[in-house]
Parts: sequence; C-alpha cells; structure tokens
Amino acid sequence: MNNIRHNWTKEEIIAIYNKPLMELLYEAATVHRLHHDPNTVQVSTLLSIKTGGCPEDCGYCPQAARYHTDIEGNDLMSVSQVKAQALRAKSSGSSRVCMGAAWRNVKDGPEFDQVLEMVRTINKLDMEVCCTLGMVTENQAQRLAEAGLYAYNHNLDSSEEYYKEVISTRGYEDRLETIDNVRKTNVTVCSGGIIGMGESVGDRAGMLVALATLNPQPESVPINALVAVDGTPLEDEKPVEIWEMIRMVATTRIVMPETQVRLSAGRTNMSREGQAMCFFAGANSIFAGDKLLTTPNPDVNEDMKMFEMLGLNTQKPFTKKTQPQTVEAENSEYQALGEKPKWSRPDHTIERNEEAKEKMKAAVLEKSNK
Ligand code: SF4
Repeated sequence: MNNIRHNWTKEEIIAIYNKPLMELLYEAATVHRLHHDPNTVQVSTLLSIKTGGCPEDCGYCPQAARYHTDIEGNDLMSVSQVKAQALRAKSSGSSRVCMGAAWRNVKDGPEFDQVLEMVRTINKLDMEVCCTLGMVTENQAQRLAEAGLYAYNHNLDSSEEYYKEVISTRGYEDRLETIDNVRKTNVTVCSGGIIGMGESVGDRAGMLVALATLNPQPESVPINALVAVDGTPLEDEKPVEIWEMIRMVATTRIVMPETQVRLSAGRTNMSREGQAMCFFAGANSIFAGDKLLTTPNPDVNEDMKMFEMLGLNTQKPFTKKTQPQTVEAENSEYQALGEKPKWSRPDHTIERNEEAKEKMKAAVLEKSNK
C-alpha cells in the first residue's frame, strides 16, 4: 500500500484540523486502521542521560542554562546506570528507550564514545534505541547507526515562522540539516513538535507541512503539549485544551498515515477519556516513567491500568523495521572526524527570552547576596 502524499499544503491541513470533530475522528480512525493495529500502543521510556546546562535558548525548556530554573543538572550517566534503567523499563513493558542529552550538538570525543557504548548495550537488550543529542553530522549519524541506533529524534517544534518566536540560538534549516544527515543512514527519523506555545492553528499546520512533505516522512512524530515551567519564557502559557490535542493527533495521523504518532509531554493534564480519544484518533505510542526528561509524567502502573481498561496491548520492539546490527567499536568503519555540524547562528533576539534570562540572573544574584 503506498498512498502516502508528500505534497500537502498548509490550507489543506488547516481544513482537516478544523473539520467537525466527529468527522475528523472518523477519518483519522479509518486511516489508522488501514495502517496500524488500533489496539496496540508502543510504550517508550525517555531517559535524561545528561540534564541541564544547555547553551540553547528554547523558550519552553527548563534545561536551558540561561533560565536558571530549579532543574538539577547532572553529568553524563554511566553505561551501567543506563543499562539498569533500560532493564527496568523493559520489565515494565517498554520496547524502546530514548536517551536525551542537553547538548547543542554532538562533539566527537569520550562523551560521544560513551553514548555509542550505551546504544550498543541497549540494542543488545533487544530494545529499540533512540537518541536525542542535538545537531549531528552525517559521520556522527553513521557512527550511531553502526552502534545499533534505531531512531534519532530532532524535533522541528513548530512552523518555520513561529520557530523564530521561541528559539534564537539556531535556525529551522539547522534542524532540517540534521534530519537530512540522519536520513543518509539506516537510522529512522523521529521529529515532531509542541503545541500550546502561543502559536496559531496555521503554525501547527505549518509544522505538519514541513514534516509530511519530507520524503520519506518521519517514521515517528511526537506531539507534545507544552508543560509550562516556572522560570522559562513560556511560564505563563495556558495549558492546551484536550480538544486541541485530539485535533492535532488526528490531523497528524491523516497526513502521515504510516508514522508512529507519539502522545508525548503533557499527559499528566489529560484524563483517561481524553487519552483514549487520542488513541482512537491515531496516537500509537506513549512515554512511560514518572518524568519526561525533567517534566512530570503519569506513573507507569497507572498507564498499565489504563491499557487494561481500554483493552490495549503493548507493541513489541522491531515491529515496524528489523533490528539493526551492532558493530563493536574496534571493528568500526568510521573514524571520529572532529567535525562540527553546520550551524546558522541566527541574529534575531526574542524579547521574552531575554527578559526571562535577566529575571533569573537577578534572582540568582539576590539569593547569593542574602
Ligand atoms: S530543548 Fe534541547 S536544545 Fe533546547 S534548551 Fe532544552 S535541552 Fe537545549
């Protein structure tokens, strides 16, 4: 079956998003059933392997060093710590582990070598391994692929236009470049975004155009609802309505029929009924664990009770694509080249990001003077 369209327009996607809800749900559920088992949902676990201290200024993120939120930063986790957490995740039903590091980009060296070892270790546990490490070059993506990486996450976050309202330290084209570098390998692409940052429906559609017109489309698209964290520039944003989340999931499902649509951050604010409607509309993955990187997430036991009540099964690993082979470090075909990914360094500033930075700087100074 190959009825995937890569020529979606923003107007078409806005029209889908704004359909009467029952019609939208029916269409999305129909597409979902043609391409996926509607009673199977993948459980993934997100591990923050290196938290905080990030040099970027993403307005939603408590890990950006400049906002001085009360996130406790840590150094890169050890391979054995990661292995222990992956085993725990596997025993509670996860088939995928996503490792996130608060880096602008991957740098060749001992820390990246350690991440490659983590990838080898988890792939050998027969779990899908995903990494989100910031920008990567093609060579770094190849090294990850060789270690047995199944997916690389690099979110577009929003439309190209609204991206400039949230992040000033890198450009949209930098994101696309990393996605392109990953595409040159056998690693699958995971890329999605966040709703509730003050963007319009047009911006949500703009992001879906950017993703759906990629050829091939990303194998995985996480849809996050903003979790507004004190101290970040977006701290005062109101939580999104569940209806917006349902519409976003349904629209994503219609324009990217084969993609794994992931119901990601923001589930603590959603009722079981709301989540059930998201699954009906085409979401087929959740993240388990009491934290999503640094923000709260429902308890895994509660999720398992919800699965039982809804008659949902957990998806086995490598259902959509075969398991990659792991090549050991000593047999690697690729050398560390010490390259840096291309990075456009945009020159715009975002007023609210600057204000948040100054506000938190003043608060830190006041505390140290006491
Ligand atoms: S979202 Fe990622 S890149 Fe942006 S500040 Fe947070 S950790 Fe850094």
